[in-house]
Amino acid sequence: MAEPKHYDYIAIGGGSGGIASARRAKMYGAKCAVIENNRIGGTCVNVGCVPKKVMWNTAEVGDAIAHAQDYGFNVTKHPEFSFRKIKEARDAYIKRLNGIYHTNLGNDNIDEITGTAKFVGPKTIEVNGQKYTADHITIATGGYPTIPKIPGAELGITSDGFFDLTDLPKKTAVVGAGYIAVELAGILNGLGSQVSLFFRYPEFLRTFDEMLRTTLMDEMKSKGVHLVPSTPIRAAKHAADNSIIITSDKGEDFSGYDTVIWAIGRSPHTDIGLDKVGVELTKEGYIKVDEFQNTSTPGIYAIGDVTGHVQLTPVAIAAGRRLTERLFNKKSDYKLSYDNVPSVVFSHPPLGTVGMTEEEAKKKFGADKIKVYSAKFGNMFFSVTEAKEKTAMKLVCLLPEEKVLGLHVIGRGADEMVQGFGVAVKMGATKKDFDECVAIHPTSGEEFVTMR
Ligand SMILES: Cc1cc2nc3c(=O)[nH]c(=O)nc-3n(C[C@H](O)[C@H](O)[C@H](O)COP(=O)(O)OP(=O)(O)OC[C@H]3O[C@@H](n4cnc5c(N)ncnc54)[C@H](O)[C@@H]3O)c2cc1C
Repeated sequence: MAEPKHYDYIAIGGGSGGIASARRAKMYGAKCAVIENNRIGGTCVNVGCVPKKVMWNTAEVGDAIAHAQDYGFNVTKHPEFSFRKIKEARDAYIKRLNGIYHTNLGNDNIDEITGTAKFVGPKTIEVNGQKYTADHITIATGGYPTIPKIPGAELGITSDGFFDLTDLPKKTAVVGAGYIAVELAGILNGLGSQVSLFFRYPEFLRTFDEMLRTTLMDEMKSKGVHLVPSTPIRAAKHAADNSIIITSDKGEDFSGYDTVIWAIGRSPHTDIGLDKVGVELTKEGYIKVDEFQNTSTPGIYAIGDVTGHVQLTPVAIAAGRRLTERLFNKKSDYKLSYDNVPSVVFSHPPLGTVGMTEEEAKKKFGADKIKVYSAKFGNMFFSVTEAKEKTAMKLVCLLPEEKVLGLHVIGRGADEMVQGFGVAVKMGATKKDFDECVAIHPTSGEEFVTMR
């Protein structure tokens, strides 16, 4: 067997976190390698944010066409749509992105090692029979969609399978209550599939502010998504005509689906020989890290989805970059703050959020210390259209100075609204600071600086 090859830094996983961390380490002269056993770019590029956003955009285009007549355009309300065509364009775009990732790693002189990594000894990894050692190793292996352990689960697909679909399903059951379930249900409904969304509790998006989820539930219903709350699914089977029947915990059958999508959560990739190096897991099965991304074993770190903390691409990237700034650029205290991370759900309509929900703030500080400003109004885009849609907003403020602890918005344009407000919330802005900012008119965002 060849001698082990030594690096200063190895990232296991060529996804958002692994690549970003290695490229930052390289900036400071570290000899780096990234190990990847699938498509470069990881979940976000191949089966996550990127193809999802293309499909969300597709549904948005369909939505614009549906309103075009009301805006005076002489167009067919429901023109022919080719799912196959947009899939091909999307796949080609992702292939280009994969190429850009390879090129960037090549230009940076970062070694790309193809294969599955396993720890085989202290700071030693094996890939395809070759050993690699490094002073610093980061586990950035991400996760995969969880498939329920129920009879007939194999009849359904996951978000990964959604991106393999070449035709629009006629009738889809989406099972799940998180943002991926809500997004896929919205996209498919927008494109013309008949969609039912099944979730276990009375509401979905349960960690989000109550205003966001209740408004979204109303809007999804009015757009034709069949919401089926308080309905855990316990089995799936084929009907005589080969369609799929799913059965609830109460034994109720829901039939006629050609596609069932399990979107019940994601599990971390931790089958990488952690026992060989003593890296501990949390009780939920994620890699246990401290605030500096250190695992329980010195010299081994973990970032991104595999740690279970705020599973979003920019979080994995930010954690990776801060880690390698600390390791290779003497920024010994540099770490990621997981507070006030802004995020968006690409639902229909989209929603954006940063900071605490009203419920969290009241629980932490007491209801008498919290003042809430909220607004709900018909979005101006729909002033001339037959179909109507609401925009809703909320500021959660801490008395007496009314520091903004949380900002939440749902409605057209929400997806592009929250990034800037996220800076203000991160800086500790108060309601008065918001009010001092002159409104941009006519927008929905102006409501945030004029709320009474
Ligand atoms: C449908 C969907 C939509 C999403 N939408 C958004 C969004 O809109 N915005 C957002 O911010 N986030 C979104 N996310 C989440 C985002 O994709 C993840 O948070 C992000 O990709 C995590 O990055 P990571 O580096 O931790 O892991 P990943 O990007 O998953 O990368 C891990 C890589 O490690 C590789 N790997 C695993 N085990 C091994 C091994 N033993 N050896 C070698 N390689 C290995 C995997 O193949 C993978 O490429 C979405 C996710 C999904 C599934």
